[in-house]
Amino acid sequence: MIDGMPPQLTDTQREVQALAREIAEREVAPRAAIAALAETGLLGLTIPEEYGGPGLDYLSGCLIEEELGWGCSGIGTSLMCNGLATAPVLLGASDEVKKEFLGRLTEEPKLASFCLTEPDAGSDVSGMRTTAVKKGDSYVINGTKCFITNGSHADWYTVYAKTDKEAGHRGISAFVVPRELDGVTVDKKEDKLGQRASDTAMISFSDVEIPAGYLIGEENKGFKLAMMTLDRTRPGVAAMAVGIANAAFEFARDYAKERVQFGVPIAMHQAIQFMIADMATKVEASRLLVWKSAVELDQGKRNTLISSHAKRFAADTAMEVTVDAVQVYGGYGFIKEYPVEKLMRDAKIMQLYEGTSQIQRLVIAREVLMPRRVEEPAAAAA
Ligand SMILES: Cc1cc2nc3c(=O)[nH]c(=O)nc-3n(C[C@H](O)[C@H](O)[C@H](O)COP(=O)(O)OP(=O)(O)OC[C@H]3O[C@@H](n4cnc5c(N)ncnc54)[C@H](O)[C@@H]3O)c2cc1C
Repeated sequence: MIDGMPPQLTDTQREVQALAREIAEREVAPRAAIAALAETGLLGLTIPEEYGGPGLDYLSGCLIEEELGWGCSGIGTSLMCNGLATAPVLLGASDEVKKEFLGRLTEEPKLASFCLTEPDAGSDVSGMRTTAVKKGDSYVINGTKCFITNGSHADWYTVYAKTDKEAGHRGISAFVVPRELDGVTVDKKEDKLGQRASDTAMISFSDVEIPAGYLIGEENKGFKLAMMTLDRTRPGVAAMAVGIANAAFEFARDYAKERVQFGVPIAMHQAIQFMIADMATKVEASRLLVWKSAVELDQGKRNTLISSHAKRFAADTAMEVTVDAVQVYGGYGFIKEYPVEKLMRDAKIMQLYEGTSQIQRLVIAREVLMPRRVEEPAAAAA
């Protein structure tokens, strides 16, 4: 991608985009079915072919995320969560661990979860209380993680825990924890405002003993791994936000042409036209940021700044556009029989998970005010 120019999609990327839209229209919107995604190979998008995945580039992944977000972002979140759980494994795990745990996801349609957040440690993960204590050739994990996407259904978890309690974020390490081990329990399934198709649960680890080889990367380097993971997943979250916003825009545009008040379609009233125009601009601008943030990853560049721009802007856009879509629908927008209230409820989470909009602004401010002099080397696999 030339700086500032939108990328030209390849034929393959266009095919992937069309396939995802077709599935979103046919399966996701009416029935929200994960099995359909697995059958077409849309689970585990970025898992390389050597581990049985499709090994898609990040831009293709974003095209898919957008279309799934257009259909049902709850399903999109469940799908994307496999990418979130596998990214640290791809970045830092041993080849044996990669083969075993990525293989589990590609051989069968299974889900994995990313366990970072705790009841007292959300935006500030340095306050986490989960611990991993080395015992011979094992680590013993104790603690509770909350708001874990796919938590009730996951086959395995990527778990962040303190290996040095006194060292703040420099004392965090990451581990793979199989669900079947003794001491892993699903404590609570959350009842949510939106994205109700996705599972969100609290998971406890009580004296869970894992082989030392399940440590991902180096001890006490888990925070960096988490940040590198989020750089890789934020374009996809942002793409899903674009999908939500685009769905709201399309519904509002079509409704405005049909609904007649004061003897003309409401689209003839300038106040409605301007809302529709602003929706269109915001969707377009968000999509360009998303594509740019994905292309930078595909080019092996550090994309922290642009992925935070994309996540912040696309999430806020999804919220604004869905609220405006409800306004265009008038009272019908508030009624569940019509599609836009769901989109408005779903949009809210985009400003909260994988770093709130405030945290994205903190990242953007840091990158803008104190840019790094030395480029971080591009990460290996993901
Ligand atoms: C449906 C759902 C799914 C999720 N899935 C996962 C998952 O799979 N894995 C996982 O690990 N986590 C997951 N999360 C957790 C999510 O990432 C956190 O909720 C999020 O990071 C915010 O943390 P918090 O809820 O503790 O809010 P807090 O950190 O307590 O923030 C509260 C408010 O304060 C603001 N704030 C905090 N610090 C600052 C600051 N320094 N400057 C300015 N404002 C600040 C925040 O922006 C927010 O508005 C999920 C959450 C939900 C609701």
